[in-house]
Amino acid sequence: MDQAAVVIVGGGIAGASIALHLARLGQRDVIVLERGALVSGTTSHAPGLVGQLRASPSLCRLLMASVELYRGLELDGQPGFQPVGSLRLASSRQRMEELIRQKSAADRCGLETHLQGAAETAELFPLIDPARIEGSLHVPSDGSASATTLAGAMIRDARALGVAFREQTVVTGIDIKAGRVSGVMTNHGRIATDTLVIAAGIWSPLLGRMAGVSIPLVPLQHQYAETSAVPGLAGRQLPNLRDPDNLVYFRQADDRLILGGYERQPRPFRLPIPASANPTVLPFDQEHFAGLKSGAVRCLPALADLDLVRCVNGLESFTPDGAFLVGPAPQVQGLWTACGFCAHGISGAGGVGRYLAEWIVSGTPGIDLSAMALSRFAGQAVDDDTVAAGASAIYSTYYDIPTTTPVA
Ligand SMILES: Cc1cc2nc3c(=O)[nH]c(=O)nc-3n(C[C@H](O)[C@H](O)[C@H](O)COP(=O)(O)OP(=O)(O)OC[C@H]3O[C@@H](n4cnc5c(N)ncnc54)[C@H](O)[C@@H]3O)c2cc1C
Repeated sequence: MDQAAVVIVGGGIAGASIALHLARLGQRDVIVLERGALVSGTTSHAPGLVGQLRASPSLCRLLMASVELYRGLELDGQPGFQPVGSLRLASSRQRMEELIRQKSAADRCGLETHLQGAAETAELFPLIDPARIEGSLHVPSDGSASATTLAGAMIRDARALGVAFREQTVVTGIDIKAGRVSGVMTNHGRIATDTLVIAAGIWSPLLGRMAGVSIPLVPLQHQYAETSAVPGLAGRQLPNLRDPDNLVYFRQADDRLILGGYERQPRPFRLPIPASANPTVLPFDQEHFAGLKSGAVRCLPALADLDLVRCVNGLESFTPDGAFLVGPAPQVQGLWTACGFCAHGISGAGGVGRYLAEWIVSGTPGIDLSAMALSRFAGQAVDDDTVAAGASAIYSTYYDIPTTTPVA
């Protein structure tokens, strides 16, 4: 009979990272199951801004672990990560005070950051009008990823250590005996296992249902667009840029800019997910993007006359409290989740793989991940409407200055 010590559902960046870290810890009896081609889900179209700055020390450390891993990953001579740094702008005194608080949080985690005045900020990102801003927070070790390169490199390295990856293999059921996982059913037969990791992106709630476990996430539409060539950009390497007051973010791609953001009217996507090759990509909605485009031009007026040449509407998992869903499922022994990344799954996957693998192998993650564990929802309503309402609220206020301390 087919069997493995650990089965991972999902061949995206999260599944790849967990598999690699399990193998590095000596657990090489691992099978990764992927319903389509490897890296064909949400990972295939993420623009790949990698940020580490978070109020929660655990999340900040987890994101720093990702960068530590990514700096050394390449595939076919192509680096998976470029340490271009990032800038977070403040257009008001109130926002500058938030950046000062964020710098203190970063200091506590050992993350190097620098508060900059308006002129210094414009030196790092010359398209910014210094008269419009108070200043910024610079994170020199942040960067830009090629998510497919990173995932491909992790799959290669995990394979070299003995992990098996099976494509076109759909998990159709989960066997539970006496309250613990005993195997998974697939379109190619059963695999016996007592440890199952759900790293299935927006599909994760469907996998959870197979085990009678609620996984509270909802796919939300998240759009970005790439501009035509921006004069003066060729040959430069600008940091990533976030302008929370205009709800937008940017990363450079050769002589163009990718722009995206968190609009005030998010659009949840209701299950069932279509059975197409990549259902995580939907038709782009220009009208819905108009507010973000205006915000981008307010931030960088030089973009006013540029065309949007490549536009993407992707589906990404959001949770009702904005924190990841990483850890054991409380109701079923041997069942683990690694999903609900709230548009930070590229930034998070390296650290998620490292700490979840440690948790599975040694019984403890090594850092406090309780704020990410599924058990935080125990006793709460997690019906689809409640989850969609909570996730939409998180998304629409994503760049607002928080009035309470975030939990993760
Ligand atoms: C537009 C957009 C922009 C983004 N920008 C960024 C960014 O700049 N920075 C950042 O950090 N993050 C970003 N993200 C988020 C990031 O892309 C995701 O969090 C990340 O790719 C999720 O990876 P994953 O491995 O969890 O999921 P996926 O890549 O979706 O992988 C899950 C896999 O599970 C497989 N699967 C599902 N069900 C089954 C089954 N029953 N059996 C077998 N296999 C199954 C799927 O086929 C899929 O390949 C963005 C997301 C979007 C949509």
